[in-house]
Amino acid sequence: MPQPEHTTQAPAEKSRSGLLFGLWMKCKGCGELIYQNGLDDSLQLCPHCGYYYPMTAWKRVEMLADQGTFHELWGDMQSIDLLNFAGNGTYAAKLSESQGKTGLKEAVVCGACHLDGLPVALGVMDFRFQGASMGSVVGEKVTRLIEYATHSRRALILVTASGGARMQEGAVSLMQMAKTSAALQRLSETHIPYITVLTHPTTGGVTASFASLGDIILAEPGALIGFAGPRVIKETTGAELPKNFQRAEFLLEHGFIDRIVPRPELKNTLSQILHAWTFT
Ligand SMILES: [Zn+2]
Repeated sequence: MPQPEHTTQAPAEKSRSGLLFGLWMKCKGCGELIYQNGLDDSLQLCPHCGYYYPMTAWKRVEMLADQGTFHELWGDMQSIDLLNFAGNGTYAAKLSESQGKTGLKEAVVCGACHLDGLPVALGVMDFRFQGASMGSVVGEKVTRLIEYATHSRRALILVTASGGARMQEGAVSLMQMAKTSAALQRLSETHIPYITVLTHPTTGGVTASFASLGDIILAEPGALIGFAGPRVIKETTGAELPKNFQRAEFLLEHGFIDRIVPRPELKNTLSQILHAWTFT
């Protein structure tokens, strides 16, 4: 989701109540001033208009996993610059920058946890890390998580956000689509439930593989979901695109997703689905 256009650092001064003023920003949805730290208490939703700001992977884990149950898996895996790729700066430098900025080793956090008491395998992508593009490590971690769910007979939940394939890894990034999809085929043979939650934006190779293969596909309101972006499609086809093209609401209407779930209801919805699911 686009970052707010205007952020201002208020001078650190004390109010009459003695509290420090912090970082304020103008809401992209309604234009009201909102206190950035306050978004942590409202699931990153604007308290005035409900505008959806992106969640970090760890905030999402905190929202979905029962307290104290999340056990991260493969948290130390990190990408290498296997092609010595250099475009606008080297890939190695960009990886290092993303790691420093986010505190993550890669663009997906995977682990085992409980959700309302049910054991699940949970993976959450973080758009701040290289646009959550899928390179060798994202593909490998997602594949391992699918295999872990298969062998441990846990329901699998993947929360997606992605700009697509990680082109700095060339064909290796594209291979991840086949790898994750093949692992999901094996999972589907066990009848273990697989639920995807598509958040803004989910595009490219992630949409073209595991994001679209859920037994049940949920989405957040207003999320952009597609393969190529609307600008590319418009320029390629020369056609006017329908209103709300590639938005969650449009895709629900056309049968691509099963339900749009407001963020505050997500955990409860996942719990209801999993409790209703009977699998052996
Ligand atoms: Zn707002």
